[in-house]
Amino acid sequence: MTKPAHARHAAELRALVRVLLRWFGHNARNLPWRRTLDPYAIWVAEVMLQQTRVSTVQSYWERWMRELPDLPALARAHPRRLRKLWEGLGYYRRLDHLHSAARLILEQHAGRFPHTYDEILKLPGIGPYTAGAIASAAFNLPTPVVDGNVARVLSRFYSRPLTARSADSWALATRLVQIAARCMPVALLPLAEPGRPDTAPLCPPCSALNQALMELGATICLPHNPRCTDCPLRSRCLHARQGGADPGRATRRSPAEPRRLVACLVRSDGHWLLHQRGTGVNRGYWELPVFELPSDRPPSGHFPTDPESWFEFEPSPTQGPPTIVHHITRFRYHVEIRAARLKRPWPPGHWLTPRQLQNRPLSRLTTKILQQWTSTAGATAKHPEHDPAPHKRHASEGPTLLK
Ligand code: SF4
Repeated sequence: MTKPAHARHAAELRALVRVLLRWFGHNARNLPWRRTLDPYAIWVAEVMLQQTRVSTVQSYWERWMRELPDLPALARAHPRRLRKLWEGLGYYRRLDHLHSAARLILEQHAGRFPHTYDEILKLPGIGPYTAGAIASAAFNLPTPVVDGNVARVLSRFYSRPLTARSADSWALATRLVQIAARCMPVALLPLAEPGRPDTAPLCPPCSALNQALMELGATICLPHNPRCTDCPLRSRCLHARQGGADPGRATRRSPAEPRRLVACLVRSDGHWLLHQRGTGVNRGYWELPVFELPSDRPPSGHFPTDPESWFEFEPSPTQGPPTIVHHITRFRYHVEIRAARLKRPWPPGHWLTPRQLQNRPLSRLTTKILQQWTSTAGATAKHPEHDPAPHKRHASEGPTLLK
């Protein structure tokens, strides 16, 4: 007797979940936060992973867990120490949210990490994706996660135009994780000691299903040139069966807007000129003076636009100043790194020695620039060792450079 369509569909979903769990057990990347069920550790990893590559996050997460191993340690930490630990990860509002959420958990939950999806969702800086990831990874709750990777896998598998925002994506992911909730934990074999499969950490099935979909999208079902021959879903995938034509996308990301910046390297008596941001996403971080250069578009608003009123630039070397590319929100900045001299007084406290620089939290752009400068200094430009304004460290006039 033929099964009714809904029963066939349910059986197909169960088979899909089994394939995904098995594949993840054999192919999970060896990431340190996959060895723990501690919600605090998982939360920190999930927040760091927002907008940031896995390869970048690993060392940050390990250092963070060494220095702030639990929630009370985070809640008590000085903001300056936190900024230093976060330096270079960018999107600094995430850090403020982590800190305020830790304090809130200490005050309102007696230090115990909330263990329902709705309570987790109420924490500062946590949306449905992160709440679902924490709830499934730490508490094995059947909460779905859908990001661009997951949506791409589902979209191709069903040959439907799905995105991370479409209700259909979330409904499908919910069905899958609910089925996974009835399965056994998954042994993550790549994380076992060599030759000792019995030491493989066990991953709760809801977490394993969510991570399997994300991992598949990140490593196999790539945005361009999906590696279908390596994919566990290839025999059932409509995209693969139809010869690789992508289903139309419901929305397309608009291309990054190109802009030009100049970063001023000003040094005097072994001190570097920096500025501490008072507001904005980089609040509390130290930055080199950075200005936006004129273009045919209105200024982005992230940077001031009047470098000549403050600085006189050293002549560029013949091959031109070193440049880097930096992304902030929807902007793609081409940043020229230029040695410069101050034309006007600068307020006290903004000249830092190399040792002070090491101990201050620096913005991601400034960290990149200083690294670039270190690698190109001497080859392409000279350090400005002196400054024409002898009164510079006693000036009372404050800069209006950075917001
Ligand atoms: S078979 Fe190809 S298109 Fe289908 S899910 Fe796998 S990698 Fe993606």
